Amino acid sequence: MDTVGALGDTGILAPFNRITIKVGSALLVDDATGQLRTQWLQSLADDIAGLKAAGKQVLIVSSGAIVLGRRILGLDAQSLSLDQSQAAAAVGQIALSQAWRDSLTAHGIITGQILLTPNITEERRSFLNARTTINTLLDIGAVPIINENDTVATGEIRYGDNDRLSARVATMVESEALILLSDVDGLYTAPPGTSADATHIPHIERITPEIDAMAGGAQSHLSRGGMRTKLEAGKMATEAGTAMIIARGTEAHPVAAIARGGRHTLFAPRANPLAARKRWIMTGMMTGRLTLDAGAVEALKRGSSLLPIGVTRVEGSFSRGDPVAILAPGGEELARGLAGFDHLDARKIAGRQSGEIAELLGRATRTEMVHRDNLVLVAAGKE
Ligand code: GLU
Repeated sequence: MDTVGALGDTGILAPFNRITIKVGSALLVDDATGQLRTQWLQSLADDIAGLKAAGKQVLIVSSGAIVLGRRILGLDAQSLSLDQSQAAAAVGQIALSQAWRDSLTAHGIITGQILLTPNITEERRSFLNARTTINTLLDIGAVPIINENDTVATGEIRYGDNDRLSARVATMVESEALILLSDVDGLYTAPPGTSADATHIPHIERITPEIDAMAGGAQSHLSRGGMRTKLEAGKMATEAGTAMIIARGTEAHPVAAIARGGRHTLFAPRANPLAARKRWIMTGMMTGRLTLDAGAVEALKRGSSLLPIGVTRVEGSFSRGDPVAILAPGGEELARGLAGFDHLDARKIAGRQSGEIAELLGRATRTEMVHRDNLVLVAAGKE
């Protein structure tokens, strides 16, 4: 049996520290009975506990709210109106969260629920808040359980499928790997149901138009998204430095099976997440300028974070997380980075010791004006 022990050695998942696992409705809920597949979920919880015991951080993007809710409400599966599916999601999400909590609590793992919509992930301030919440949960060892907020999401403010939502979440928190557990074991040269000589592709270096053409239509797969949305998710993920794995999750211990090298398709990341973030910083629109003293210039060149004490001038108007230009005393651009404070707070703390910041701002906070992970020296970025 593959149990926690089997994941003591995380096999092909060893290089990834932060892993996002997307679980499709078809895996969680038995199609014939409409019941939650509790034993299977327990086996996945074993695998997650194994990953965590090996020092990994794990996030779950779980579908299943609508399927579970409509059964509880006794609604006909084929003909749900939008109102009914949103009501079903409201009912089913509670059952879904409870199932995840019960299965992971058995391993002493705490779960937290996060429901997202595109206006949260695409609007900068709420994006930063959602990201901070997820990062905080991960840092304290909890497993975030994420779904789309189907009860309020409609039309254009809706992902509609959890493949793309999971790619957005994985890249938002710089997860190194995204595992899509579904009813297909990867990408084939043609949709396997329709073409007898379709062959499985284990590794994809880049999603080219030829690869796109292999996906066929969404109807050839059971899951809501189908292979098309999985490739869309793959593009989003790999561009931002997240590797994506598609594997069949139907059997017990689906993650242990991947770790052992069971059949899957791996989409290679185009860069590592840090490099992808730095590229993004270099190409973003600068909304403010921080001028440094000579000491801070030297510290930055040595790879340190920018601390408030080294900042002599704050210009422009920016929020926390916005890209800012970092200037040497003479005004030449030295680096670019993401502001750790908005311009009002930045002005209050410029030139001050780190120890004074909490009192100046009236709250405990991080002390970097720009953290080194969010900072790119201009010369280095142009290389
Ligand atoms: N968010 C939907 C649910 O939980 C699932 C979307 C999908 O299947 O991709 O029911």
